Amino acid sequence: MQIGFIGLGNMGAPMAANLVKAGHQVRGFDTAGVVVEGVTQVQTGAEAAANAEAVITMLPNGAILQAVADQIIPHMQNGAVFIDCSTVDVDSARAVADQATSVGLLSVDAPVSGGIGGASAGTLTFMAGGSGLAFAKADPLFDIMGQKAVHCGEAGAGQAAKICNNMILGVTMIATCEAFALADKLGLDRQKMFDVVSTSSGYSWTMNAYCPAPGVGPSSPADNGYQPGFAAELMLKDLRLSQQAADSADADTPMGHAATALYEQFVETEDGLGQDFSAMLPRFEKRGRS
Ligand code: NAD
Repeated sequence: MQIGFIGLGNMGAPMAANLVKAGHQVRGFDTAGVVVEGVTQVQTGAEAAANAEAVITMLPNGAILQAVADQIIPHMQNGAVFIDCSTVDVDSARAVADQATSVGLLSVDAPVSGGIGGASAGTLTFMAGGSGLAFAKADPLFDIMGQKAVHCGEAGAGQAAKICNNMILGVTMIATCEAFALADKLGLDRQKMFDVVSTSSGYSWTMNAYCPAPGVGPSSPADNGYQPGFAAELMLKDLRLSQQAADSADADTPMGHAATALYEQFVETEDGLGQDFSAMLPRFEKRGRS
């Protein structure tokens, strides 16, 4: 397949490389002039999109996505599929889908989970929103770049699933970290805390698979000085998107709101920037009640 790929950053570059390895012809564009082995580098998004059967974007945010969509949609061939894999706000995802489908293109919002490791290994999970036809056209590419793709519903449903999942993740990480910090102060050994909680009703992915306490549970960023993993600022981005969506849909999300405020403080006024999002544990450890 002839594929255009726009946004060859930490995630986009390895995803594009996997498409090349699978035998597809990929033309890539990134404003930073990134070169990816096997990907034909072109000078504009429009050039990457022209004559492509599928165009994939992997960009920082919704405003950039909308600007790129404005540039490339007029150059896409009829019936081609526009696949946006960035994590963006639901409203931007729906606006781009409307713009694409109104001129006869297929469109899928397909944010991912699995991070940079999953992008390199081709083991991402895709959460997709769009028509059945659009999903069917994109699915073979999801198969190459990932291990699972869930068709969540119409346009925007992929982004909705992603931010709801990550709102749970942020809230749960905070709950896990504050419980460890409380357990410390109560004199409870961290390994014993893990042994109990990981097999009791407090278990969660953040406790069982990504334990924020160093030396406890399976290997995680906590065992590596809290180097990300999943950076606190990316968690903050996703939490903010959840709150933007909650505002727009008039949904009451008090825990998501509190988690957003806490990650904002951690990243913007404390030392969270550049640390893994599980570094909330040493943050709580240092603090008292007030
Ligand atoms: P990144 O900043 O490394 O990559 C974004 C790339 O887009 C950059 O190379 C930048 O130069 C390029 N770019 C910006 N504006 C452009 C434009 N107008 N035209 C072409 N290229 C442009 O970010 P990333 O880590 O690759 O993340 C990409 C997206 O994936 C984000 O939406 C992020 O939230 C999401 N995501 C990231 C991770 C992760 O672990 N990094 C995990 C899941 C989802």
